[in-house]
Amino acid sequence: MERSVRESIAGGCRIGIMGGTFNPIHYGHLVAAETARVEFALDKVLFIPTGIPPHKVDYQIADSDLRFAMVEISIRDNENFIASRIEIDREGPSYTYDTLKALHRLFPEQELFFITGSDALRDILNWREAEGIIGISKIIGASRPGYEIGDFLGELFDRYPYAQDRIFEMEIPALAISSTDIRKRIWNNKSIRYLLPEEVRRFIIENNIYISK
Ligand code: ATP
Ligand code: MG
Repeated sequence: MERSVRESIAGGCRIGIMGGTFNPIHYGHLVAAETARVEFALDKVLFIPTGIPPHKVDYQIADSDLRFAMVEISIRDNENFIASRIEIDREGPSYTYDTLKALHRLFPEQELFFITGSDALRDILNWREAEGIIGISKIIGASRPGYEIGDFLGELFDRYPYAQDRIFEMEIPALAISSTDIRKRIWNNKSIRYLLPEEVRRFIIENNIYISK
């Protein structure tokens, strides 16, 4: 991991981890991270754009450096948010468990909180090493329109009783925004204003990121 990132994390602090493809980053991601920061008293939130997502190999993903740049642009006015290339710089597919293990090794005395939307939280049951993930990091599941949690957590707690102290639901202002929808809007010449930071919108246009399908 980048030295600058390591040095910005003090001993004993509470670290939020916001993973995602960020293709592109939008206000749904930023509101989830900020709400988690405040509600769970996190000292820092690390934004970790994925390298080659294991489950998203077959559709268009903007170049890692461009996705990383868009994350950086979005968070530079928030001193508690940090972007890391830890997954981008790793060879091969990025699994959440591998990333969390690496972070735990780097920050053994810090408490880790993996922040995820309710859609991705559902996938936890299918995640490779779900048990290991829950052991290393607490999980914060942010509400997301269209993906209600329902009985899902009850089912998970039946399987992993100790998870009740490690997985938390978090209500955030509902934003029915997704990167998929933003990409489609660009392809269909619809507006993406106010769905993501204006500087990111400009960056997308200047770099022609989602123009060719
Ligand atoms: P895509 O449509 O390409 O899958 P996405 O909008 O779902 O993009 P991801 O990069 O896949 O964005 O998501 C990263 C994380 O942010 C996931 O945990 C996801 O559940 C969460 N997330 C994304 N959008 C929202 C939203 N609008 N509200 C709450 N959580 C969200
Ligand atoms: Mg997604």
